[in-house]
This record gives sequence, structure tokens and C-alpha cells, in this order.
Amino acid sequence: MTGWSILDPLVSIAIVAVILIGTWGLLKDSVNLALDAAPPSVDVAAVKAAFLALPGVSAVHDLHVWGLSTTETALTAHLSTTGPTAPCFWPRLRSSPAAASHIGHTTLQLESGALPDCPDC
Ligand SMILES: [Zn+2]
Ligand SMILES: [Zn+2]
Repeated sequence: MTGWSILDPLVSIAIVAVILIGTWGLLKDSVNLALDAAPPSVDVAAVKAAFLALPGVSAVHDLHVWGLSTTETALTAHLSTTGPTAPCFWPRLRSSPAAASHIGHTTLQLESGALPDCPDC
């Protein structure tokens, strides 16, 4: 049947289009992962502002937020601190945007000031 030979490629294209639309979100997340980009649910500027608002924190640098998978997020940062911060620090951090945006793995380096070998990124 000649009708099918024309219809066949059209059906194939339609199926590919449906699959592409269906996986677009996942695809985009995967590309973000590959590019080491912060997940769209995380406002990095807000996280930095929240760190700066913590008592005793004077500066934040080397702040990185990235996806470990499409559902898990990690954060590392250097915090320049003045005075003893630990007692009041952790409760405040738990209610910060970092926690609100489900960043499950956080590594913080506390410094009395940026060290000579601190990366500027
Ligand atoms: Zn860095
Ligand atoms: Zn540092």
C-alpha cells in the first residue's frame, strides 16, 4: 500500500517529537549537571546573602552549588568569620535558603579571612 509508505516517516517523526517533549525536562537537568550549573530551584545569590546574614560571617567566597543527581544538591563555600560563631551558626543555617532549597550535602570552610591560596571563584 503506497499510503503507508508516506505515513510511516510522519508517524516516526511524531513519535520522536513526543519522546523529545517528554524527556526535555530531564535532558535539560542532565545538561545542567554536565555544565556544573546550580539547579534551577537554587537561588545562589540568596544563599550567599543568607550566609552573609549569619552572625560573625564577614565574607563568602568559593561558593559552589551543583547537582549530584537530578534530585540531590551539594554546596561548598568558604566563610570568613570573626569571633566564635559556631553556637548561633548552625540553627540559623538550618532555616536558611540553603536548607529551603533542599541542599542536602553542605561543606563549609571557616576562615578568619581569605587565605593566600583561596581560589577566587
Ligand atoms: Zn571555587
Ligand atoms: Zn577561602
